[in-house]
Amino acid sequence: MKLEEEAPVTLKRRARKINRILGETYPYAVAELDFRNAFELLVATVLSAQTTDVRVNLTTPALFERYPDARALSEADEMELQEIIRPTGFYRAKANSLLSLSRRLVDDYDGEVPPSLQDLVTLPGVGRKTANVVLGNAFGVPGITVDTHFGRLARRFRWTASDDPVKVEMEVGALFDRKDWTMLSHHVVFHGRRICHAKKPACGVCPVAALCPSYGEGETDPVKAAKLLKYELAPGREDLLDLMRAGRTRAELREAGHGLGA
Ligand code: SF4
Repeated sequence: MKLEEEAPVTLKRRARKINRILGETYPYAVAELDFRNAFELLVATVLSAQTTDVRVNLTTPALFERYPDARALSEADEMELQEIIRPTGFYRAKANSLLSLSRRLVDDYDGEVPPSLQDLVTLPGVGRKTANVVLGNAFGVPGITVDTHFGRLARRFRWTASDDPVKVEMEVGALFDRKDWTMLSHHVVFHGRRICHAKKPACGVCPVAALCPSYGEGETDPVKAAKLLKYELAPGREDLLDLMRAGRTRAELREAGHGLGA
């Protein structure tokens, strides 16, 4: 597709069409971290650095049983906390972050998670990405979450040319209505994890191939591309896909014995 002179209005239309198709492809897209409140989501997001959401979800039930709120976590024994979160990697640094974070919540916010970007980004270990995850998913405040998947796909879609997450957030945000930002983030991240991988995108089975300037960066043969699909789209996992489309929660799927990894 010719893009050199893509007019802003055409870019916006193409971007919105891509989001629509991704929404139809992943109607079950949600935050992939398990949480029951803003505190749990904040902690889970901090833990998710350098590891998978699946691994975090296996770790957090024991963590939140032991430390159900910011006050309890702020008083945790550091060694014990490290042991609980060890499977998520970088556990010493993460334990340290969680202790500083929960102490700040207790000292400055009465143990509650503040619902604003300005406040969230002042918390230890919390950057814009984490803040937007929490705002969008725990407080219903629209936010674009620029993680590694979102940045890569936004550039492949030519929604932006920037490597700077804040610039990506601004430029992509301008293409969409504010109310769509949170779901857009989920759609794009889902697509990045399942089809448009960093190393070998499965272009041959990609539902937005006709709208993507980077088509051909990955495998274009449909049979070979299908083998690259991950999670519920992976070959042989049709049962899981059907259940997800039927609206089953991750907890229900785990109980039914479905592994939710890649
Ligand atoms: S066509 Fe290829 S590069 Fe473009 S979104 Fe699809 S998988 Fe990614």
